[in-house]
Formats: sequence, C-alpha cells, structure tokens
Amino acid sequence: MTQACNTRYNILRVAVPIRLHCLFDYFAPENSFHTDFKPGMRVLVPFGRGQKVAFLIECVSHSNIDSHKLKPIIAILDAQPLLSAHDVRLLQWVSRYYHHPLGDVYTTALPALLRQGKVAALPVEECYALTALGMATDSEQLKRAPKQKALLEKFQKHACYLSAAALSNGDEKWRSALKPLLEKSLLEVAIPSIEALPADALMRNEALISNPQQHAAIDKVCDSLGQFGVFLLEGVTGSGKTEVYLQIIHTVLQQQQQVLVLVPEITLTPQLEARFRQRFSVDIAVTHSKLTDKQRNIAWLKMQQGMCSIMLGTRSALFTPLKNPGLIILDEEHDASFKQQEGCRFSARDVAVVRGKMLGIPVLLGSATPSLESFHNVNQGRYQLLHLPLRAGNATPPTFQLLDIRNKKMQEGLSAMLIAEIKDTLAKNEQVLLFLNRRGFAPTLICHGCGWVMRCSQCDANMVIHAHERRLRCHHCAYEHQLLESCPACITGQLMPLGLGTERVENVLTSLFADKVIVRLDRDSTKHKGSLERYLAQINDGHADIILGTQMLAKGHHFSQVTLVVMLDVDSGLFSIDFHAAERLAQLIVQVSGRAGREQKPGKVILQTRQPEHPLLLTLIKRGYKAFATIALSERQEALLPPFSYHILLRVQANNEDLAKQFLHTVLNLAHNSQHSTCELHTDILGPVPAPMARRAGLYRYQLLFQNQKRQVLHQFIDRLLPEIYKINRSFSVSWSLDVDPVDL
Ligand code: ADP
Ligand code: ZN
Ligand code: ZN
Repeated sequence: MTQACNTRYNILRVAVPIRLHCLFDYFAPENSFHTDFKPGMRVLVPFGRGQKVAFLIECVSHSNIDSHKLKPIIAILDAQPLLSAHDVRLLQWVSRYYHHPLGDVYTTALPALLRQGKVAALPVEECYALTALGMATDSEQLKRAPKQKALLEKFQKHACYLSAAALSNGDEKWRSALKPLLEKSLLEVAIPSIEALPADALMRNEALISNPQQHAAIDKVCDSLGQFGVFLLEGVTGSGKTEVYLQIIHTVLQQQQQVLVLVPEITLTPQLEARFRQRFSVDIAVTHSKLTDKQRNIAWLKMQQGMCSIMLGTRSALFTPLKNPGLIILDEEHDASFKQQEGCRFSARDVAVVRGKMLGIPVLLGSATPSLESFHNVNQGRYQLLHLPLRAGNATPPTFQLLDIRNKKMQEGLSAMLIAEIKDTLAKNEQVLLFLNRRGFAPTLICHGCGWVMRCSQCDANMVIHAHERRLRCHHCAYEHQLLESCPACITGQLMPLGLGTERVENVLTSLFADKVIVRLDRDSTKHKGSLERYLAQINDGHADIILGTQMLAKGHHFSQVTLVVMLDVDSGLFSIDFHAAERLAQLIVQVSGRAGREQKPGKVILQTRQPEHPLLLTLIKRGYKAFATIALSERQEALLPPFSYHILLRVQANNEDLAKQFLHTVLNLAHNSQHSTCELHTDILGPVPAPMARRAGLYRYQLLFQNQKRQVLHQFIDRLLPEIYKINRSFSVSWSLDVDPVDL
C-alpha cells in the first residue's frame, strides 16, 4: 500500500479536504519518476472548477474510473513526505474510527499554512555553535579581546548552539566579536537539532528532590521508555504531577528524543509554560489557538524536522509529527476540552493512546480526577496506575464543609455564615476564592408584573444580563440587545434580574468588603490580550484579596495564598439529564477545591447547597474522588452505559424542525432494516429526540443514539449505515454529523 509510484503504479490516490468519504484518483505527470511520490506528501490537484491541496495516500496501478476521465495532478508540493508512514497510518485510523472523511482528518492534523499549500520550510534561523577547538580553548587566551572572550565563554557555558536572537536580546554588540571567533575556527555556523544537544546541558534549573511516590512514578515510566505502555498518574491536586512530568521529560531529552505534552487550555495556565521554560534550557515549541498561523506552522515544522525537543500544546497539537518520538503526556486527562466538538470529533486522549501504540512509546495520562474511562482501563489491566496520594512539600489536603443554605437568608447568593467565614479569612490576610460557573450579571431578565422573560430569538435560551455594558447577550449565539427599560409584554411591570452571575456577586462583594481588592476572572473580564496574565500575576503577588470567577479557576492554577475556596452553587449541576453530568460535577468540585491551601497554610472548602444529603456530595467530601468514581462506575455497569457499552450519536440540524426529525426517522427505518438482516448483537437505537438545546443559532437540532456492548459490532453497523445516510441526505440536505464516544448527550 505504501508503494512508491512507478510506471505500473502511475495513478495517485489522494484525499481531498472535503466532507466526502472517498478518495480521488489522478494521473502522475508523464515525466515523473516513481520515486517522486510517497504517501504523506501534498499534491495540487484540479478539483471541480478550481484546484485543491490534496494528500497522497497511495500509488496504484488501476483505477475504477475510466482512464480518459482521469486528470493529471497539477503539481507536487513536497520533496519529502510531511508525515511519516506511522502518522499516515494514524490518520487513516482516525478516519475509520470516527467515520470521518480522510481528507478532512488531514485538515485537522496539518497547520493552516500547510493546508493552503505553502512551502513546508522554516525561516532560516541564524545559529552558531562551538567547534571542538572552541570547546578545548581556554578563554583566558583571549583576555586582550574582552568581547571575544565574553562571547566564547557564553558558548562554553551553554555548551550548545545559540541563535542570533538569543545572543542579541536587543543588543547587537556581540556581532563584532563573532567574526574573529569564526575566523579562528572557535565557532561555526550551526543548524539546530536535538541530536546536537549535549546531555549535560539540557537543564536551566535543578529538579526538586522527588518524594518516594513521585520517585516510584518517575521510575516506572522511565523504565518503559522505548516501548508502548499507558500510565495513569492519579495524583491529588498539588501532589507534584508536573514535577513528575518534568523529571521524566529530562530522561527522554537525554536520549535525544522528543516529548509531546498536551494540556487542556494552555492560555489559561501560563504558569505551566513558565515552569517548563525555567527547568529546561532547550527550545520549547508552544502551540495553541491564540497564536498566529505562522507561529503554529513554525512550531509544527520544528518538531517535524527534529529541531525542537518539547512541544506544549492543546488538543490539535496531538498530530504534530515527531522526528524522534519518545513520550506523549496528557495533563488533566479528564478535561472535556480534549474532545473536539466540531468537524472530526476525536478524543485527543484516546487517539494519543493509539498513537503511542503505533510509535512504540509510552503515554502518560495525568489527573487528580481521572475520567471513569481511564479508571475502567486500569481495572481492565490496560493502563498502569501510578498514585500520588499526598500533597507535595508541606501542604496538607483541604477540609470540606457542606453549608446548608435551605431557608437561610441570602445576600445575592451569599449566606450570612459564608460572609462570616470570608471575613475571618481576610482578617488573617489570606486569599479567598469564590467559584460560580455563570458569567454576566444574571442569567435571566424577568418581568415582576407579568412573568415575561427575555429569550434569545435564535436559541432555546434566556438572554443573559450584562449590567456594566447595559446589554443582553445570548451565550449560545451572537445575538445581543440593549438592556430593556420596560416590559414589552405588559409595559408597566418592573423588569428584574433573576439568578446570579459573576458580575452580580462582584457587586455585592464590593459593597461588603469595600477595603479589599477583588479580582474577577471570567471570559468577559479577560477578553483583552494580556489581561488574564496581569490578573494571575496580581493574585500571585498577593495584591488580591478575593478572587471570583468561573471554570477558568478550575484549571491547574497554583495560587499559593488561597486558603478558603467557596463554591456558591453546586446544586445546579446535580440534576442534569445527561449521565456524564455527575462525573463532570465531581471533577469540577475536586479541581476547584484543589486551589485551597496549596502551601504551608491549610485550606478549607465550603460548598453552598440545598442538597446537603445528596449522595454524590457526601461520598465526594467524606470518601474522596476515587470512592465516587468506583460507585459511579458500578452504576454505569448496572445501566450498561459507557464504558460498559459504546455510543455513537448522530446529530442533525436544519432550519426546518420537521426536516430534521424526518431525516432521523428515515435513518431509523433504514437502521432497523439493516438490523434484521444480520444476526449480530443487537444495536439499540434511541430517539430521535431533540438535542438538550433543541434550537440554537436559528437551527433545530435533533439526535439519534446508537448503543452496543460490542464496540466492533457498533462500528460495523455504522459502516453499513453511513453510505445510506449520505444517500438519503441528497433529498434532505440537512447538516449532520457523527459523534463517536460522545462526552455530552
Ligand atoms: P500538581 O501538578 O499535582 O497539581 P504541582 O506539580 O503543581 O502539583 O506541585 C504543587 C507544588 O508542590 C508546587 O509548588 C511544586 O513546586 C511543589 N512540589 C512538587 N514536588 C515537590 C517536591 N518533591 N518537593 C517539594 N515541593 C514539591
Ligand atoms: Zn442565541
Ligand atoms: Zn411584564
């Protein structure tokens, strides 16, 4: 299959980035050699009335298309494949498993500039390195040329190459010393490469002394380098998981191999990148959605060409090619952002494991609150559990209190008991963190006279009040409206805010604690570039007393001075119809709580609730996350829910409700028929039902759920059904998508 093209194999089979499940055949240009074509290269092809950048999958000798209909490609864009045979195989696996067109999977895997057909070349970086002579030369010999002496010593101290950018730092004076050192053959022009990194010059700062549990975890993974294995590092918040990653990475770097580190939302945790940069002196490629296309392209190519050892990135970095792969790490493996929710809906966690297996390298998953799937995989013997039960250093775990607010007088969401606790903490000059997962002033505008509620005209959702800006906003589409003065229904009734948002809580805190500094962290308060970093620095410098925010606060932050953590409203998460919700809520509670007492002073967590007897809350605070997970898993087993069965969700949206429903009913009929014709294990089909938000941005949304206890049987079922779905959609023209292993229903 991976055969290069020769005279017999002169048909190029390519994946075109469109949403169709088929490959396209083209002729190789007449004067081309068979060695010109290798899978993983990009080619430019005529397509429709235009042309497209496509991806070479294989060279074949025969096409099912009439040869007079076949066209030649326009150009070959790469001299060498962009992707290795392993990576080509990985993308094919992704396409098959997620039932997603291969061309579109390539689109997910490649940075934008390469998708557009730009040359895969890095801007040449001016770099210099010591020669053997330079290494052996005593710099004292240059004492009469102090600038040359200083420059030579700089290289000797680093013992590896330095880029012009690193040498300049805004000052070009070093250049006058460069020329004589080059002439004396003490320095030479260098090309950065991880293979040129001397093993004793990788670190900028020494590692911490690992505690016995960390040590055991590090040893286990390091022993398994060079072979496939999945490790689940379950470490309570603040147990030093990051330190474990750093020490393992150091070993991988010493072997001149590369590490891919995936994190949920790197822009929310700039501290993590800083910790990597403080530890290692090697180049670190960072990639996420806030960077420019050019920056992401450079990061990708540096890893592909083996010029960089570490990549730190979000979900989409998963497919970055590695010249010399050593290890894949997924931090906060439970985080929902590892699941892509549009286009190819892959799970970065699951694909990382498949990639590790194909590459023959270990995969390390870390979390304080591992997903039920990963615990299940440990129970099945597929993953090895590494446990960090204690907080690192001197920190102790926080204590929990369920604060029963039934029948209590509340001041904008704060009970009197809570206000007293906050006061006590502030009096000790310690920081308080308040969590509320709703931004804006209030989630609803209601008329006190007639009960009218301001709804979004495009969605099944209420408009959220943003009081500072005097706007009403839908959080599910772009619809906005100025704040209303009078009720459009009864004219005379008084309009009131209903419910709590972070802005509203900020107001009451400002009036209660007038002399204290309050920092609000949510998508609104941090929308300007650099503002999140400023707030985080302010918190860490101790120039904030109360931190108030949304789930941004739940992400791996290390706030050293927070001792009291409050969740203002845990109840709203307890009654979801989605079976994933309990797991999500438990993870959120534990993660938010994990911000309390991370250094010397002990931490306390208060959960305000009207459900103080709720089993989920009681299990969680009395017996911990693991106990919760064990119970939740046995409930899933009893109900035959994932991970004890498998789900594939067919979602559809259309601007006509009947059309969306009819489409799914037609699919359902077809599915029933195809079921009768075989004797395999029965696939349950549930629905069609409206999606939890049945109308969004003007579109009606319905879904159909397929469930089977055997993964393979389910996938084969969908494979058979898929061509039929394409066929019927020719007469419906709705927008549909398949979600394999959905994380929300
Ligand atoms: P996690 O990633 O598990 O939340 P971190 O790696 O952020 O934990 O560690 C929490 C804190 O403990 C950090 O301040 C870190 O520097 C410190 N720490 C980690 N390991 C050690 C150790 N072995 N000795 C002393 N302090 C440590
Ligand atoms: Zn809307
Ligand atoms: Zn009214």
